[in-house]
Amino acid sequence: MRTQQTPADAAYRDDADVGHFIDGARVDGTGSRTQAVYHPASGAVARTLRLGELRDVDAAVASASAAFPAWRDTPPIRRARIMQRFLSLMNERTDALAAIITAEHGKVFSDAKGEVARGIDVIEFACGIPQLLKGDYTEQVSTNIDNWTLRQPLGVVAGITPFNFPCMVPCWMFPVAIAAGNAFILKPSERDPSAALFMAELLAEAGLPKGVFNVVQGDKIVVDGLLAHPDVKAISFVGSTPIANYIYETGARLGKRVQALGGAKNHLIVMPDADVDQAVDALIGAGYGSAGERCMAVSVAVLVGDVADKIVPRLAERAASLVIGDGMSPDSEMGPIVTREALQRIEGYIDIGVKEGANLVVDGRGHRVAGREEGFFTGGTLFDHVTPSMRIYKEEIFGPVLSCVRVADLHQAIDLINAHEFGNGVSCFTRDGHVAREFARRIEVGMVGINVPIPVPMAWHGFGGWKRSLFGDMHAYGEEGVRFYTRQKSVMQRWPENTEKGAEFAMPVAK
Ligand code: NAD
Repeated sequence: MRTQQTPADAAYRDDADVGHFIDGARVDGTGSRTQAVYHPASGAVARTLRLGELRDVDAAVASASAAFPAWRDTPPIRRARIMQRFLSLMNERTDALAAIITAEHGKVFSDAKGEVARGIDVIEFACGIPQLLKGDYTEQVSTNIDNWTLRQPLGVVAGITPFNFPCMVPCWMFPVAIAAGNAFILKPSERDPSAALFMAELLAEAGLPKGVFNVVQGDKIVVDGLLAHPDVKAISFVGSTPIANYIYETGARLGKRVQALGGAKNHLIVMPDADVDQAVDALIGAGYGSAGERCMAVSVAVLVGDVADKIVPRLAERAASLVIGDGMSPDSEMGPIVTREALQRIEGYIDIGVKEGANLVVDGRGHRVAGREEGFFTGGTLFDHVTPSMRIYKEEIFGPVLSCVRVADLHQAIDLINAHEFGNGVSCFTRDGHVAREFARRIEVGMVGINVPIPVPMAWHGFGGWKRSLFGDMHAYGEEGVRFYTRQKSVMQRWPENTEKGAEFAMPVAK
């Protein structure tokens, strides 16, 4: 591993203001508004984020628009080679990037490395862009005429991303978009903005021409600026459902292509025949990993038949003994919550659950970590006897709160899940192949696991939920990602020995 200071390392210094990356360089931007970026494990302000203004959006779009024609005309194999260099740098610099993620997000270091690895998967997929952009060809579609379809990049496209995966979620977007020949503008979360700058520096080091990848930090002003800008052709969004809905409606009204991934409430069904040890491990890891701040976190355990009485006491024991601490401590299983406001929201939901009459089995409220008293920590919380009418069942809490719902059989479990507003991920633990098959066929959720608690599809399969977990037609990354960032063109070609004369007024048909 390299030890010398690289531009990417310089992008992250505790005392540095966090700015933008526009036209191939780090810049402060034109505005004076700032926002604190926290170190959630200590509760301290780590650095100051410079919030972008419309002038910064205009500068990024201008740079991207200028870069686009030459980048579009660069042969796909040469674009792929730059992606391959970026891939090597990401592999080489994984620890440095993961440490930045842990510092600003709070998740444990091993989990941050896992996030980077899942981002790298998509970069690797994007390296195959020459194959992915191959079109279809029909020779002699009509006498002396050939017809082919090709996919061309859209132009300048933008991504707006959430705090919970500051590396992986941007990597769902920009590697595919750029490899396909677009120029990209990323608006990362204002809560953990540094990973984006680190990756921008690595892309530059890999040889990406200036302007092809830009980062504009900021809030709603920047998002609305990107939505309204006539030269931004497509918007990819990942975040909460109300904002996803807003982005989709606004973008569609303004004639843009939009994919907007929203919130979730993921269920894990445990059938009476399931391996109880495996199910408990799965619920603990998927419920409390990353402090429940994953869009694929399991927040509802659906316990079928008599399995609840076997599982709940074991979940209680494990939830109460989670090792909670600074994400850089190798022993920590769960880090802090991203901000104090998020912590208060999560603990507020626990108050609501108690008022609603759910049985609070383990109470994580007020958890303190020695030496980190000002950190944004909460413990693991477990509710039993949660019912579908309760707010803690219906709403996304986005924290380490697991709710157990008891049902009589598989059909009740499926009906319960299908009636939920969200349809991101779901899982079923069983030893019965027929149950597994029925479940996978009947469930109205976009990503399904059978004895797999967090079924995040691999890079070449594509990621997306159903119902109010995704607005738009196409999933992120995979072949759907390539389709999203390109548009199809059909060419019909004839080089006639010019014997036919005169205009034809009937619809052309194959002759
Ligand atoms: P968020 O919706 O608050 O923010 C997401 C992005 O939208 C950020 O870049 C933010 O700056 C911007 N934004 C926030 N408010 C805005 C507004 N009023 N107008 C315009 N832009 C605005 O989400 P978050 O708290 O950063 O992330 C957590 C949420 O993301 C959860 O709901 C989680 O389920 C969801 N998420 C979903 C997926 C998925 O694949 N479906 C993946 C990760 C996270």
